[in-house]
Amino acid sequence: MTDSCIFCKIVSNEAKATIVYRDGQVTAFRDTHPVAPTHLLIVPNKHIESVGALETQDEQLMGHLFTIARKLAEDEGISKDGYRLITNTGPNGGQTIFHLHLHLIGGQRMRYPMG
Ligand code: 5GP
Ligand code: ZN
Repeated sequence: MTDSCIFCKIVSNEAKATIVYRDGQVTAFRDTHPVAPTHLLIVPNKHIESVGALETQDEQLMGHLFTIARKLAEDEGISKDGYRLITNTGPNGGQTIFHLHLHLIGGQRMRYPMG
């Protein structure tokens, strides 16, 4: 838990969010500024700043994050048509909240190329 981190506060229920999934390792909630019909954020419950701060011991947790992304895509009804998973990392990656998160975005055809 990091005092100033909004995603830590959402995980600990100190800040409000529309939570769609929670277990002992990860929490998922709707983005306040969705860019597509489905836009979820999936975060580890423990504070990890970004992919750049990952350690070997986090490998199981990261696998779980992706498995839950797959499950939530099914729950949202977007898995058949496909979706996009994004993890912005650092300033050049466009990261604005420095608590690692997966964006699960779907429900429309995504624009391409990225960058
Ligand atoms: P980043 O730019 O770090 O990859 O993504 C941060 C995302 O968090 C943005 O899409 C932004 O809309 C979302 N966001 C920022 N603050 C909050 C908040 O307080 N609650 C929720 N649910 N989403 C937030
Ligand atoms: Zn945090």
